[in-house]
Amino acid sequence: MSDPHVLILGAPGAGKGTQSARIADEFGVEHVTTGDALRANKDMDISDMDFEYDTPREYMEAGDLVPDAVVNAIVEEALSSADGYVLDGYPRNLEQAEELEGMTELDVVLHLDVSRDELVDRLTGRRVCDDCGTNYHVEFDQPETEGVCDECGGDLVQREDDQPESVKNRLDVFDENTQPVIDHYGDHDGFVSIDGDRAPDAVWADVRDAIDAHN
Ligand code: AMP
Repeated sequence: MSDPHVLILGAPGAGKGTQSARIADEFGVEHVTTGDALRANKDMDISDMDFEYDTPREYMEAGDLVPDAVVNAIVEEALSSADGYVLDGYPRNLEQAEELEGMTELDVVLHLDVSRDELVDRLTGRRVCDDCGTNYHVEFDQPETEGVCDECGGDLVQREDDQPESVKNRLDVFDENTQPVIDHYGDHDGFVSIDGDRAPDAVWADVRDAIDAHN
């Protein structure tokens, strides 16, 4: 079996990060995620590109999309050095999807389908370790000691864009820009839509089967 080229699509909070980490581990591929890459480069100077803001930070905190030119360059660079990969968080609009088509060929396109109510609960209750990035949830996935990371003892914080106003905007941006991307990939030979409203292990069983079947 060759190293699979996997695209994982779904709304913010659908579980793309969790499932991608398992895919990377099980299939030995790279996890390429624009959200993490941008969070690590929030204050990158993009003033020479003449956009509304001078860094990605302002777009991200509001839950808006960072300009395509910035994100396309990140993905192109990451994919050029990966044999197999799981691509998570990109493409988020049809222009990015077109750009991706010129960069690589996809074997499997997974869609994690989750209801809006569930997404809101997951995102607004999410807490993240400030040091190592491990995710928790105030109700569904509590740490042993409130506010403290089980993995490294770091402080658990709420991402700026997980505040209710920003969550609403991110889901609206998803409906408007990213849902058409999912419709677009519906015709791909490797397209599989998975019920993502379930627990991570149940979703994982379907994710693994879908990759095995299309690779
Ligand atoms: P995520 O962690 O995937 O929810 O991404 C967090 C934020 O990063 C998003 O709300 C956007 O502001 C930005 N971002 C991530 N991926 C993209 C993308 N493909 N296009 C534009 N902005 C993105």
